[in-house]
Amino acid sequence: MSRIRRREPSAFLERHAQRFRELKQDLDQIDYFCKGTVLKRMMKCGKAHCACASDPTKRHGPYFELTYKVNGKTVNVKLSPEAAPLYRAASLQYRKLKVLLSRLEKLSQTILHHQAKLAHSRHPN
Ligand SMILES: [Zn+2]
Repeated sequence: MSRIRRREPSAFLERHAQRFRELKQDLDQIDYFCKGTVLKRMMKCGKAHCACASDPTKRHGPYFELTYKVNGKTVNVKLSPEAAPLYRAASLQYRKLKVLLSRLEKLSQTILHHQAKLAHSRHPN
């Protein structure tokens, strides 16, 4: 820390470093997360004489599934009605996490770029 303080002060760097620390604290707020989207489906059972065959409002369900992609392939995982809200919340956490990570990355790039310029101006060669 003292090593950094002795360098020429940079309001720009300090402001960005502060923002980086704040965003890192937001990471602490992230709860269990999972990739994907929870879908709610009403299904036909396939029996010709069942009401669901002709009336869309008489379809069975709801059935829940978690859908996500692995190497470009869609994966569907069946969820119980009890599990669905857990996974729905977790998928929202995942989206929050991705937004946070991309902000942290952009901020890191800005800071690193600036630090590199400073380091070079101190030791030009
Ligand atoms: Zn049916």
